[in-house]
Amino acid sequence: KSAELFARMDKVAAAPMQDHDEVPFVEVRKEDCLIVDVDGNVFADLVAGWGATPYGATPATVTEAVVAAQRNYGMEITDYVQNDIAIELAEKLVAIAPPGITRVMVSLSGTLAVEAGVKLAREATGRPMILVFHGQYHGEVTYLTASVSTDLAEVNSASSAYVGGLVFAPYPQQFRAPFHRGPGPYDDTLYMDFIEEWLLVHQVEPTQIAGVLIEPVLGEGGIHVPSAAFWERLTAACDRWGWKLILDEVQTGMGRCGTVFAGEHWDLRPDILLLGKGVAAGGQPIAAVMATEEVMGTTDVHGGGTFAWTPAACAGASAGIDVLTNGETLANVARIEETARRILSPLVDEVEQVGDVRMLGAFIGIEFVTDKASIKPAPEFHRVVHQECVNRGVLGVTQLGKWVYRLQPPLTMPIELFEWACETIADVIRDVAA
Ligand code: PMP
Repeated sequence: KSAELFARMDKVAAAPMQDHDEVPFVEVRKEDCLIVDVDGNVFADLVAGWGATPYGATPATVTEAVVAAQRNYGMEITDYVQNDIAIELAEKLVAIAPPGITRVMVSLSGTLAVEAGVKLAREATGRPMILVFHGQYHGEVTYLTASVSTDLAEVNSASSAYVGGLVFAPYPQQFRAPFHRGPGPYDDTLYMDFIEEWLLVHQVEPTQIAGVLIEPVLGEGGIHVPSAAFWERLTAACDRWGWKLILDEVQTGMGRCGTVFAGEHWDLRPDILLLGKGVAAGGQPIAAVMATEEVMGTTDVHGGGTFAWTPAACAGASAGIDVLTNGETLANVARIEETARRILSPLVDEVEQVGDVRMLGAFIGIEFVTDKASIKPAPEFHRVVHQECVNRGVLGVTQLGKWVYRLQPPLTMPIELFEWACETIADVIRDVAA
């Protein structure tokens, strides 16, 4: 039945919607943390709506809140007609935000949050340039986001008119593997020397930089977790040069990395904090731009648009924050991380093609290489592992051509199910390597 439906789709859909290699089935429904396809196959969901369903597919309180708001308010343009649900959500977001973040602006998607965040940094400083790291992903449907997203060449395809005012450096840790072949561990401090002594001397005056746009953990680019030393040096550079720290927590935020925001692991104090995906809690589309009083107190930047912060979306997000902060959700993320470390990390020593296993909370990546000596990327090995996992009932996150297989289960996934999924993945990797 999946094949029949794909054939119908392919007659009418645009080319990018005809790509069925990565997920070779058509879904009919979800049951909490399971996906069911039209042929009755069942898959453990390690995608979680790419992070947008952090509490399983249809968490009861979120769904009820969305339905009630839809019934009571219908669609409303919150930028114009304010409503009580939106006000409550704004208060709740400020209450959970890192110290110093006191204001929130409506947004509709991660992409639009990035657009507003970059505008805010330029407005607050009067400076033109944004420092952004190679390998990051910030969306791709607008010209700015296509220009700052460099995790896949196709994002910056020929049809993307490049936006100026950007200066790039490689994301920290990215050269550890497969490119860093020197002896000893990769050193993030040396990396910051490179930025400060090379980039800022040869490419751009530091006083021309308005802000640094960075993912606290590199997500789409392959789950790279920067070191504390990197963050110390980066935040010191922000202080020294007056750069605004624009943290893109669209994917890492709202519990994904074991804390409400990933930046908490290093006590980061962003000036601008971007939220999307998980903030919707599996409800309706919603995103948020948050910032300090200085940045947001008197701004002329708008984040909204007709569909930003509808009552139904706000109600779902608000119910989601209650799930995030109930004590049990983050405890389960800790169990997920512990389980992944126990079952998946030993594969690095056991299997030649497993170059690395990296994670923070429920944001997990398994890196495949051709062999430990050359540590060359192994996208084909990755493809076969992913396909065989699907055959055995596990759907993880993959993008063909890349070589890091990602697991990002719902934060509330029952630990027995996650454990089974990890065991299955480990078996598949051993079988494919054999
Ligand atoms: N920022 C990050 C870090 C993301 O991972 C994504 C989406 N994967 C985006 C921004 C874009 O969000 P959206 O797809 O909601 O526009």
